[in-house]
Amino acid sequence: MTETETAIWSVMVYIMIACYGLLVGSFLNVVIFRVPKEESITKTRSHCMSCGYQLAWYDLIPLFSWIALKGKCRKCGQRISLQYPLIETLNAVFWVIVFYCFNGKTYFINNGVNWKFLIYFALSSILIALSVIDFRTFIIPPMFNYLILGLGIINLGLAIIPFMFNADSGKTFTDLNIYTNIIGFFAVSVPLFILYWISKGRAIGGGDIKLMAVAGLLIGWKKIVLAFIIGCIVGSVIHIARMKISKAEHILAMGPYLSVGIMVAALWGEPIINWYFGFFKK
Ligand SMILES: [Zn+2]
Repeated sequence: MTETETAIWSVMVYIMIACYGLLVGSFLNVVIFRVPKEESITKTRSHCMSCGYQLAWYDLIPLFSWIALKGKCRKCGQRISLQYPLIETLNAVFWVIVFYCFNGKTYFINNGVNWKFLIYFALSSILIALSVIDFRTFIIPPMFNYLILGLGIINLGLAIIPFMFNADSGKTFTDLNIYTNIIGFFAVSVPLFILYWISKGRAIGGGDIKLMAVAGLLIGWKKIVLAFIIGCIVGSVIHIARMKISKAEHILAMGPYLSVGIMVAALWGEPIINWYFGFFKK
């Protein structure tokens, strides 16, 4: 391929990923509204919260239908929450960033696809949904933590299974670095659990502890420690600002901040950790 062709293909791939991101984002909106109410995600069709008008297929096109309707229900004119286009856009942006981080340099040049981006597509979407729900209800529904646990197990399987069927690759089991992930499960969750136990559940929520365990299994112990530090810094800065501006409740939902930490650590953890430890080597 010539350079121009490569560039055109790249742009098309990114546009396609953004479109899929918007579609899954619109599904996330359904999850965010229905899971806390324990409504079925698949049974009933999307409807207007105010008049119950069932949305036609052309009202379900993410982002564009919201813009076309100027954010109002087609039938009763009630405002449709800005949350819908925001979540859709956020999910699309995350997916584009994830794809860039995993495949940006290798995709067309080496013809190699790093399929791990699919795991991180799922992770970013799950984190968006659990963050919004935790922000609103102060609860992380267990379902989301189980999903992330599933991603962690798939991730380990992707390392172990090729190793098992490729005995003469010259790799040993320790080369797989699986212990990094196993330690990751406990690295932040155990200290938090002790804190939970001492404070009788006032200092931290059980859902946050489970989140740090399952995310640690997926991204490994160094990155989960980094994720926790980032989460605490971002959380305290934003929470203090919110309490000053709007006198927001003093209860702190940690889920959104921990999620920011997990995403940053998952995508840029290695350069950040190397940069930090670089100071000590000088
Ligand atoms: Zn309506």
